[in-house]
Amino acid sequence: MKLVVIGGVAGGASAAARAKRTNPTWEVMVFEKGPHVSYGSCGLPYYIGKVVDKIDALIARRPSQFKEQGIDVFINSEVKAIDFDKREVEVFHKEEGSIKRYGFDSLVIATGANPVVPPLPGMDLEGVFVLRTLEHGMRIRDKLEEGDVKRAVIVGGGFIGMEMCEALSEWGIEIVLVELLDQILPPMDKDMADLVRAHLEGKGIKVLTNHGVEGFLGDNRVKKVVAGGEEMEADMVILAIGVRPNVSLAKEAGVKIGKTGAIATNERMETNVENVYAAGDCTEAKHILTGDPVYIPLGTTANKQGRVAGTNAVGGSEYFKGVLGTAIFKSFDIGGAMTGLTEKEALRRGIPFKAAKVTARDRARYYPGSQDITIKLLYDPSSGRILGCQIVGHWSSIKRIDTVSAAIYAGMGVEDLYRQDFSYSPPFSPVWDPLLIAADRALKT
Ligand code: FAD
Repeated sequence: MKLVVIGGVAGGASAAARAKRTNPTWEVMVFEKGPHVSYGSCGLPYYIGKVVDKIDALIARRPSQFKEQGIDVFINSEVKAIDFDKREVEVFHKEEGSIKRYGFDSLVIATGANPVVPPLPGMDLEGVFVLRTLEHGMRIRDKLEEGDVKRAVIVGGGFIGMEMCEALSEWGIEIVLVELLDQILPPMDKDMADLVRAHLEGKGIKVLTNHGVEGFLGDNRVKKVVAGGEEMEADMVILAIGVRPNVSLAKEAGVKIGKTGAIATNERMETNVENVYAAGDCTEAKHILTGDPVYIPLGTTANKQGRVAGTNAVGGSEYFKGVLGTAIFKSFDIGGAMTGLTEKEALRRGIPFKAAKVTARDRARYYPGSQDITIKLLYDPSSGRILGCQIVGHWSSIKRIDTVSAAIYAGMGVEDLYRQDFSYSPPFSPVWDPLLIAADRALKT
């Protein structure tokens, strides 16, 4: 029996490894369009910012290591078509310049996402970068190492934009962050995002909201960015305005695309085609609170979905429950984290809610390094059920979001949260943990 996996990063590599472990009698083949498999894109900002010195550190497993496990990985090999009648994939092997067909009994589609690249004037100028793959990361760092980048413009105030502010600042260059909307961090509420904005500005980053990028100027190399009717000088541009699911191959073959534009699957990661599974950034997922399909592409989700798809594809039994959109980032000393619904999302969906917002200390006030942490807790006004949470504070303290994520998953209310037996010691928290203070505020509101 043969399993073919298309795409070899988080979703695909997890699927292949898990499939082989679940059922070693299956032949497992992975086809990856690019030159690398099984790496952590999430580490790229830290490679660019010199926190991680060698790009190799981001590679979890090489093709030779997969081979030792009995998995055949083909790099520089793009699947051009899927034939469900013959149950074959058509693969273009770039290095040989040949096209070959491979049969499968089960298929996992893990083709990921592509960065959004609008057709703007000057997009192809040298010095304009996107950041998605290992090669993108290497190109950006190589450029910085040349030493002639003095000013950079980061387009897009999302999580990657935040991480890149810190990464580029390590090179001592001037940074402007440009965002189309009236706030940075579009997934979060503006009041929480503004706390992050103030921190960035305090670190010398110029933040321009309500500035849609219109194009790039220069001869061969970028010299200026035009945004919001203004021109700003730049030797480097990082375009980080989001990603789109890479579904064209699946769509052409007849795999059902959901209303978010990503591949629709059930909890077993099965698509509408028998024995065909999908995982990672090319898929949508069920929102655990609302039950709606959502597109929230994250590395941790891709890994989990890959495991589920890989297990089931070779006859095992696993399921993926869904997502709460739990996410976290760090920029300089601060970080932001979120789970569940935000205020604007609840309003958009017409979901009744109340919000309790507190600013407390993240450890005992007298303990060195104690900092402010702001928590915004959303809950149902009648049942008290927790609907969502956002946290902004020192980056070391905001992993508290996972406690709230678990509480939402368990269907807990604010009173349940308030009654939790949390640990305490001055270096870690005040006697009353900020989460308990937020729950207490909710109970009194
Ligand atoms: P991808 O990583 O997109 O991999 C898909 C692979 O499929 C690609 O290598 C592609 O070449 C290949 N492929 C596509 N089509 C074909 C084809 N036809 N034939 C063969 N191969 C094909 N997530 C977090 O949870 N936390 C973070 O902190 C975080 N930070 C991030 C920072 C950065 C800079 C970036 C770029 C992403 C970050 N993410 C983070 C997101 C995370 O990296 C992605 O969710 C994850 O990589 C998705 O994995 P994937 O395998 O689904 O897709």
